[in-house]
Amino acid sequence: MKIVNMLAVVDVAKCTGCKTCERVCPVLAIKVVNKVAVVDEKDCRSCYACEQRCPEYAIAMVKRAHPFVVGVDIDSVEYERVARLCAKARFNPEQLVCYCSATRAEEVAAAILKGADTPERISLVTGVRTGCKVECIEPILRLLEAAGIQPVPPKGGWQWYGRTVTAWEIPEATKKKYASRGFYFDEDIELLDRVTIAPLQGRRES
Ligand code: SF4
Ligand code: SF4
Repeated sequence: MKIVNMLAVVDVAKCTGCKTCERVCPVLAIKVVNKVAVVDEKDCRSCYACEQRCPEYAIAMVKRAHPFVVGVDIDSVEYERVARLCAKARFNPEQLVCYCSATRAEEVAAAILKGADTPERISLVTGVRTGCKVECIEPILRLLEAAGIQPVPPKGGWQWYGRTVTAWEIPEATKKKYASRGFYFDEDIELLDRVTIAPLQGRRES
């Protein structure tokens, strides 16, 4: 969930149409049209990425006259399904997956179950990945993958990189190699499994 209270505004006199802003926007809300960047005001999620990356300092963040809240109500989706998707992606539903917007795994899962099938759409409806934009792409990709979706990064964009390996995917040979150096991969996995599977054993308390 996020309160969207700022808006990116382009100074057309300074814009050179370089497309840097278009390549970094996590919700694809800014596009270069006829060599000038244009912001879709309803979609801008106030993340500052374009303002921070524009080489011409052509973008300013201004206060919105009418701030609004974006977020997905997890109670609008059967909680069993939310918990099951989170468990499949190896998340506890209540685990924070985006610290900037304080979004939990269950909200991202609910967004996916309601039809958000790309990181960009998930960010648009939940506000996740519109803060630092660094950590939260991983849980988004894992939850999408668990739902059977393999999203493709935006063409020519720099918004996100691929998924990294989780504790469950470490090859046996690697585990063996580091076993004598004080790593406890299997014990860690056992503990993590208990944390992620627990919500399936009883419905979330309200
Ligand atoms: S990054 Fe700046 S100069 Fe480049 S297209 Fe966007 S607004 Fe224009
Ligand atoms: S969401 Fe971020 S990158 Fe996209 S237009 Fe708004 S401030 Fe710029």
